Order: sequence, then C-alpha cells, then structure tokens
Amino acid sequence: MSTKYIFVTGGVTSSLGKGIICASLGRLLVARGLKVTIQKLDPYINVDPGTMNPYEHGEVYVTDDGAETDLDLGHYERFLDITTSQANNVTTGRVYYDVINKERQGAYLGKTVQVIPHITDEIKSHVMQLGESGNYDVVIVEIGGTVGDIESLPYIEAMRQMRYDVGRHNTLSIHLTLVPYLAAAGELKTKPTQHSVKTLSESGLSPDIIVCRSEYPLDMSLRQKIAQFCNVELPDVVASLDAETIYEVPLLMQREGLDTRVIEKLSLGGKEADLEHWTEFVEKIKSPKYKVRIALVGKYVEHHDAYKSIVEALIHGGAENDTKVVIEWIQSDFITKENVKRKLENISGILVAPGFGDRGIDGKLEAVRYARENKIPFFGICLGMQCAVIEYARNIAGKSKADSTEFNDSSEYPIIDLMPDQKDLQETGGTMRLGKYDCKLRPGSYAHLAYGSELIDERHRHRYEVNNELRHDLESAGLVFSGINPEKDLVEIIEIEDHPWYVGVQFHPELKSTVGKPHPLFTAFIEASLEKSLAGSDVGVKAEEAKETV
Ligand code: GLN
Repeated sequence: MSTKYIFVTGGVTSSLGKGIICASLGRLLVARGLKVTIQKLDPYINVDPGTMNPYEHGEVYVTDDGAETDLDLGHYERFLDITTSQANNVTTGRVYYDVINKERQGAYLGKTVQVIPHITDEIKSHVMQLGESGNYDVVIVEIGGTVGDIESLPYIEAMRQMRYDVGRHNTLSIHLTLVPYLAAAGELKTKPTQHSVKTLSESGLSPDIIVCRSEYPLDMSLRQKIAQFCNVELPDVVASLDAETIYEVPLLMQREGLDTRVIEKLSLGGKEADLEHWTEFVEKIKSPKYKVRIALVGKYVEHHDAYKSIVEALIHGGAENDTKVVIEWIQSDFITKENVKRKLENISGILVAPGFGDRGIDGKLEAVRYARENKIPFFGICLGMQCAVIEYARNIAGKSKADSTEFNDSSEYPIIDLMPDQKDLQETGGTMRLGKYDCKLRPGSYAHLAYGSELIDERHRHRYEVNNELRHDLESAGLVFSGINPEKDLVEIIEIEDHPWYVGVQFHPELKSTVGKPHPLFTAFIEASLEKSLAGSDVGVKAEEAKETV
C-alpha cells in the first residue's frame, strides 16, 4: 500500500488546537493498527524555534536526534507513543536556508530560483521524505498558521501539487475552522467557515472533511448548511466541542466518526480503533481518587505553554497514582527568604523548572532550600537541578561563593560551569548539548528505583554542567551523584539521602512522558508528594472531597 498523506489546515483564527486534532486523529489511526507519523510545517523565518523566547513561542521541544522543534511535536509523541525527529518539523527558514545553500553550490544550474517551483519543491521533498521512508501507512501534515496568511501560501500550493504528484486517492485535505456563537443573535454562525473554505479552495486545496470547533453542539440544519456551502457531504462535517481535557479529544472525534470517514476516503481498512487503555486513562483524569498540590517554580509562569511538557508529564504521573495534580504557578522572581514559607505552604511537592539566565535565580535557590529543609518532595529539572547543586554547595558544603558561571562568570567557586566543548562556540542556534544521551544509574538510588533499570537515556538541552573538578567536595558533603553519563563522565542526576524524595536531573524527562508510558520519575515524584499529602500535613483528600473540587 502506498503511503497516504493527510493535510490539515486551519481557518478563521489561530489557537483552534490544530495540533491536538492532528494528534487525536493520529491516535485513532494508530489504535486501528496503522503506522502513523505527524509532520509540522511552520511558516516562520526562524530556522528552528531554538533561539526564540519562551514568551514568543512556548516550550522548545527536543527530539532524540537533538532537533529543537515546535511544541506540537510533544503532543504527537504523547498521543501516538512515537518518537519524532528533525524530519517532523520544517520551517520556512529551514526551507529557504537549504534552497539558498543549494543555489550557492550551483545546484540549480543557472536557473532563476523562485518560490514556485523551487521553494514548493523543497517543501514537497520534506513531506515526501517521511512518506518514502517506507515506515508509515499515513503521514499527517499539519500546516501552521491560518489560511489566508501570505506566509502559508507556498505550503498550500505545495500540498495542492502533491495531490496530483502522489494521486488524489492517496491524499486527504482536512480543514479545521471555528463556528462562533454570537450571544446577541443567540446563534452559531457558519459564515466565517464558508469564507475560510472559499479562501482555501481558491488556492486549489478544497477540503474533504471540515472539523468545526465550537462551544455549542452543531444541530443538523447547521451541519447541512456547512456541507452545502462548503461542498462536502454531511458526514464530513465534524463537530469538535470544547473538552474537559485534551486527552478526551480522540474519544470525541471517534464519536463524531472522524476516523471512519478518513478510513473510507483513503481506503485504509484496519480494525476498529481499540481505545480501552486510552479511555481508562481519561477516566482517571476526570474522576481521580486523590488530589495533590505541586508548586511549579519558574520565571515564565504567566505563560503556561513555556512548560507544556512538564504540565502534561505531571498529569500522566498523576493518573498513574489516581491523583489530580493541581499546579500552583510560583514566579521565582518574587520568592524571598522572608516569604518563601508563605508562598510554599500547603504544597506537597516542589518542582523547580528549567530556564536560562540569572533572572529569578535567588528565588529558585530559596525554593530548593525550603524543599530540602522541610523534607518536601523535590524535583529539579535542568536549571532546577543546577540550582539544587548550588544550594547544596552554599548551605551544606560551606562554599558560600558557589555559583554558576551562567550567572556570575567570575565566580570564585564555579560549581556549575560551561561545558568544555561549549567554550569556543559563537553561534547560538542548535549549538547546545542537545538530544539523547546515556545515563548510568547508581543501584538503590531513587532514580534507579523509579526506572527499574541501570542504563537509561534521556534528552538534553543545556550548555552548563556540574563542574567535575569541584564535584568531589559535594560528594564528601553528602550529595549523591546517582546518574552519570558514561562517555563523558558528566553528572546527570543528583539526590540527597534522608529526604522523602529529592531528585535533580540535568536532562528533560518531561519530553519522554506519553499516555502509554508515563515517565517513571514523574510518577515517583507524584507518589512521594501524595504520600506527604496523605500524611496529613495538608490538602490530601480522599474520593468524595476530590470529586467536589476537581
Ligand atoms: N541554562 C542552563 C544551561 O544551559 C539550563 C538549561 C535548561 O534548563 N534547559 O545549562
């Protein structure tokens, strides 16, 4: 069977949740036994989002092969239980970069290099590369942006051409749109959808299926109207109502028959989707037995997308423990020695987040100290782990001047320092220690207990590292280095004993937590936090109370 391509465009407005719709459709097809991957095409000029500010772009999602990518790839991995790679995210910047490099090398043999055909050909080759790998029955292609944007045009044109290149029966066009409710008229309105479909059709890519985001159910007459004016059959109008959790969307889409229509139109076959495990997972999220409050201490807390994968991994770890995780977002800039107790009262676990630069560091150090001294389960990720090392050096090992050279480049005791191979780098894009590296765990450590194996691998994104020349001072003072990278002898995990659960990791475990395989460190962290909570000190609540408040 030749690979099928599903192009997903968005209309009317951004933020309709195209990534979740793609991931949900992907999950339904995987649950039918098909091999599926999803590719995101981003119409911006940055080569990748790695150099973008978290306020601008949200989290940068890192793949095993070290690509810095769009956060939608996180949804794809979490929903489909697949690993993605650089090939799954293409930006306009990358497309132009490659085309211009080829032009400089004379690859176009003196031709005038143009958007059509050269840019569109380059886009198509990126899409076809996944299909031609022979690894997939279906490639879902999510086109970023909104139909009608100038910058999306080359992508739409490329997809239009692909329908002829690979055969119309091998492709499908799905358009996600908004059906808004006008309170003054007391009605749902289809006009924006009609206009959006018209704009898309003018570019030659008319939709086969229309998914309508709406706050209210679409009645039959409304569906008929959309079908009639947008040139699709009635069952091809699919309603996507707001869901209680994003994980419910595959179930809602199945009920609306989205996967059935896709299967029919692409002649895909495959068994009925098996969503038993998925349904159980959603049930656990919607009706948990327990509840814990976890503090997420970071500097971008007003912008939750900056911590997308951490939030999802906490939900997964919570579901494993039949627990709803309530996140208290704590801005690290405002934590002081004086107010830390008040800010972190009634919290059962403290997670200190990743980050860059010195803003908010003093507050993070206070949060770490509070967790250590008050024996509150603690999870430090990347910069959070580096803060834990500095805090230990200063307050336990007696190195009051301990610091990271990221915040103080003339530190007298640089316990966190730039990695040697980072020292001479000038470029900032794609130059960190990125992607998958091995880590050997110390038998009997918290990490070992959680993972249940001695050799693991995790994804990285950092320039600084525990200073190997000074690390023995901390070891003698009781800090446990429970995970070490075997090739370069780098510290990957730190722990302290005599504490209910205190783990700092140099890598990003949140990137590998999926619905099918919740991350063991998040599961263990929530378990320890739940134990603390149930021990009576704060808000651990049993079934009845949880149901009322969840
Ligand atoms: N800024 C730190 C470093 O580069 C931590 C990075 C992170 O938290 N991802 O090492």
